[in-house]
Amino acid sequence: APSRKPLMAGNWKMNNNHLEAIALVQKMAFALKEADYDAVDVAVIPPFTAIRSVQTLIDADKLGIGYGAQDVSQHTSGAYTGEIAGSMLAKLGCTYALVGHSERRQYHAEDDAVVNAKVKAALAADLTPIMCVGEGLDVRKAGEHVAHVLAQVDGGLEKIPADQAEKIVIAYEPVWAIGTGEVATKEDAQEVCAAIRTRLAELYDGNLADRVRVLYGGSVKGNNVAALMTQPDVDGALVGGASLDPGEFVKICRYRD
Ligand code: PEP
Repeated sequence: APSRKPLMAGNWKMNNNHLEAIALVQKMAFALKEADYDAVDVAVIPPFTAIRSVQTLIDADKLGIGYGAQDVSQHTSGAYTGEIAGSMLAKLGCTYALVGHSERRQYHAEDDAVVNAKVKAALAADLTPIMCVGEGLDVRKAGEHVAHVLAQVDGGLEKIPADQAEKIVIAYEPVWAIGTGEVATKEDAQEVCAAIRTRLAELYDGNLADRVRVLYGGSVKGNNVAALMTQPDVDGALVGGASLDPGEFVKICRYRD
């Protein structure tokens, strides 16, 4: 059986300045250490302005928490005012870069071609892209969620060879579940995560598909994560709101307790 180490990643969105970020990571780290917990990979995804502080804290205290950025430029350097290059994030010790979060797709017009370019840029900088996909409520109601998500997977992975694709994390985040308190049922999460894995096997091979982590995201909390994690194709969670509360996020990381 494939052994995929679960990943619990906290997307802070536009919350926490660099000082607040330090306080939050310190509280998290204390609670995780108490539990001597290394059964899952834990990561925080702060705003760009807090990454340096988070790096300093995590390095100094050897906290064993990964971190990353919420976005990455598709370009390597140059005249792109306001953008942040993958190499800059790698230099800060980032492991991960979110790509194509639904809020980026919605408010910044990121389509699958942009997502594809950003996934490539992240990989080129040795970052692990966490590529987000997911359908809106209208698509779900029409029963077209699987086709919609698989089209996003196809588009996001276009012309990415297997030796690169195997490094990617995919996050299934139904838009109707993000920030709404309406978590997908474990069956709904499993259906789409399994379909994503099957598509990876089609695009590449079964071995690669068995190794890529597929996360669920959308209103994950301490009291619903364990049910989601019983599902064979759900390999962790991308957590928004609950990642701002250290007690709640640690509960999610310790879902097996
Ligand atoms: C997210 O933004 O990735 C997310 C899953 O948010 P929330 O947990 O708040 O629904």
